[in-house]
Amino acid sequence: MGFNRFSYIFSMKPITMRISRSDSSLVISLLLLFSMLVVSGSIVDGTTVDINSLSQSNELSIILMIGDGMGFDHVQLGRWVEVGTNDNLTMEQLPWNASVTTYSADSAITDSAAAATAMATGYKTDNGKLSVNPDLVELETILEIAQSLGKSTGLVSTVSIQHATPAAFMSHVSNRNSFIEITRQIVEEAGVDVLLGGGRQYFSESQLNIMESNGYAIAVNRANLTNVTSGKILGLFGSLEIAYELDRNFTTTPSLGEMTDKAIELLSQDSDGFFLMVEGGKIDWSAHANDKVGVALELVAFNDAVQIALNYVNTHSNTLLIVTSDHETGGLTVVSNDLNDDLPTLGFTEEQNRTLRIDRANNISVTWDTTDHSSANVPIFGLGSPFDTMTDNETIDNTNIFDIMIGHYGLTKSPTPTTTPTPTTTTSTTPTTTTPSEFPMEYVLFALPILAALVIVVVFLRRR
Ligand SMILES: [Zn+2]
Repeated sequence: MGFNRFSYIFSMKPITMRISRSDSSLVISLLLLFSMLVVSGSIVDGTTVDINSLSQSNELSIILMIGDGMGFDHVQLGRWVEVGTNDNLTMEQLPWNASVTTYSADSAITDSAAAATAMATGYKTDNGKLSVNPDLVELETILEIAQSLGKSTGLVSTVSIQHATPAAFMSHVSNRNSFIEITRQIVEEAGVDVLLGGGRQYFSESQLNIMESNGYAIAVNRANLTNVTSGKILGLFGSLEIAYELDRNFTTTPSLGEMTDKAIELLSQDSDGFFLMVEGGKIDWSAHANDKVGVALELVAFNDAVQIALNYVNTHSNTLLIVTSDHETGGLTVVSNDLNDDLPTLGFTEEQNRTLRIDRANNISVTWDTTDHSSANVPIFGLGSPFDTMTDNETIDNTNIFDIMIGHYGLTKSPTPTTTPTPTTTTSTTPTTTTPSEFPMEYVLFALPILAALVIVVVFLRRR
């Protein structure tokens, strides 16, 4: 764009010289001077416009973080273990928070597939379905919308990448357990730039070869992950899921935080911005087992990933950060504690901190109502311009999370489900004050020089 603008200025120069001898030279010269100033990006609507800011106008990004099965008391359990009863976890320190209803199209108690579909597409569906509505019409996802806007995309999870939560953002199937079909869609259709999680066993050798020939680095351990510093990546760190935090080998298997860090490092190299979803998948699995130690360790690992995302967002205000959950698992209530002041510390080794966390979780009393999901609302925490005008502590629906996200991209939700890749209607508002509107700018750039040329022609005709 910058090049075009400068070549336009050069093409105007001979005209300026030719008309400088005419009687109307002063008026015309002023008109031309003004149009050239506009063309060079110096004056628009009376404000100074930085040419560089125009090329960054699409860099709006989103990091959506989903603690699977994470209810309010799961957060409290993690808080008591990690920072004590009088402090807050990183996710709780985000400036906006609310409560989210999670019911699905066919049940008061959702599963991860219907809940992820609601967040990814803005529409309710039946339990078990992934980004298709109850009538099996495909629903466009926020990840696909980001792709159509030219942004890079990534999905990170501690369970297999074919599992319900990540799969809802990149595939469309009527049954969440169609892992072979989901894998086929990942390889042949989805085009997600960064995929980090488990699920290696669902990929055939030939599918991995196709991914490699499509430019993906294949990583299977922590060292592989560290070595990739640009481009696309398929990281598969478990045959099925990645090891629980309780069992994870710190040297060979990356943490959720390390995967999140790498995903942001790779995706943020795209000047058009990105969409990233990060799932703490094993909060849910631990809660299904009514395992409070497991929940605490997975919750803390998820919160560590939130801290890494927040470190990025703090210096990139065009990135929206949302931390939430798909449903509550276990009917967990944190009852009481017998905790001392020995908190996990940065100075300790990972092994020492894990031992300390296990010890602290064991000193917290909890009750469980079920080994399944409950209908309880879940927490949501947010940082970004859309939350500036939203009320704290309100109750929203999980489909509203999609509305907030596409609003951040400057779009509004389409009135009917669509399968077309065309993005929905553009709104007139831009999410940040630093981003100038592009549409009027283009008109001003080209209309004014043409107007000036017309004036010149009229003046010459009148002199004859
Ligand atoms: Zn579950």
